[in-house]
Amino acid sequence: MEKMLAAVFHENESGGGEVKLEEVVIPIIMKNDQILIEVKACGICGTDLKIIEGGHPANDNTIIGHEFGGVIKEIGKDVKDLEIGDNVVIDPNEKCGYCINCRRGFSNLCDFMALGTTFGIFQNGGFAKYCIIPKSAAFKLPDNIDMNAAALIEPLSCAVHCHNIANVRESDNVVIIGAGPMGLIIESVIRKHPIKNLICVELNDWRREKAMDLGADFVINPNSQNVKKEIMRITNENGADVIIDAVGLSETFEMGLSMWAPGARLVCFGQDYRAEAKIKPNDIVRYQRKILGSYIGYAEDFLDAIELINNKVIEIEKLITKIIPLNQLITTGFHLMKERKCVKIIVNP
Ligand SMILES: [Zn+2]
Ligand SMILES: [Zn+2]
Repeated sequence: MEKMLAAVFHENESGGGEVKLEEVVIPIIMKNDQILIEVKACGICGTDLKIIEGGHPANDNTIIGHEFGGVIKEIGKDVKDLEIGDNVVIDPNEKCGYCINCRRGFSNLCDFMALGTTFGIFQNGGFAKYCIIPKSAAFKLPDNIDMNAAALIEPLSCAVHCHNIANVRESDNVVIIGAGPMGLIIESVIRKHPIKNLICVELNDWRREKAMDLGADFVINPNSQNVKKEIMRITNENGADVIIDAVGLSETFEMGLSMWAPGARLVCFGQDYRAEAKIKPNDIVRYQRKILGSYIGYAEDFLDAIELINNKVIEIEKLITKIIPLNQLITTGFHLMKERKCVKIIVNP
């Protein structure tokens, strides 16, 4: 049997584990609705590191990598709308289409997904030369799309979703708390729309510089500046109209509450299941504010993200920090992620 190099997660007793590069058998189509894709590019996500550290569940012995695209090499008998040679991007979150959440229009909250189905986390994913997925997970791409850029579509779809949830208007002062890879990708989407001011709050120097490079009007360093004071100064004492918490800690949520304008929307995007916060309900009632959650995205957000890439609206070259071969995933890729000196590292398996 033919083999390929793959990044396989091995769980240890404490919940986390280790990712090892090893030779595994090339998968074959087992069901009629499946396709075999040759992975061209797969992005490294913060979740990949969280899996290793034990901060995110994953299945033992699974090939990780969930932000990927490639070209179709084989198709099952029942696949009619995709062809061999098509470029596709993968939505790694498999949805059932028939649970109550799917039927009410919240496919991102599919009950079936909660059981653990994500490709690259619970089922084999994109850090390997080949991957088998069901046709429903594939979105056909325009022919000439750059496959490294295509690896950004999944995180970009989450950013598009967040932007839609926030309902950003032209006269809004927008604050993004946390300029990690996702905060910066959200920034890139918001920057493409006319708004009053775009302000990023971030501790790390490299990330603050990157936030400026991507078009922030102001950056604030909470280590050396009074965040609330700065926001009030910039917004003429009115506060922030849209706040996106791309971190998800108690401190960042409460930071959002300290700066929200009357009528503001506070969008919780970053996740940490340990976070707790105190809030005065009357601050919401009296000033008609909203607290909103933004979780992954809908299929239509994927379509919009594809067009953002296809129409070259997003400055891809500023978001892709490095492109590496699979054998450098751990040495270069994970290393740069831990150093926090990158937006996206793309792996070409
Ligand atoms: Zn991810
Ligand atoms: Zn469902």
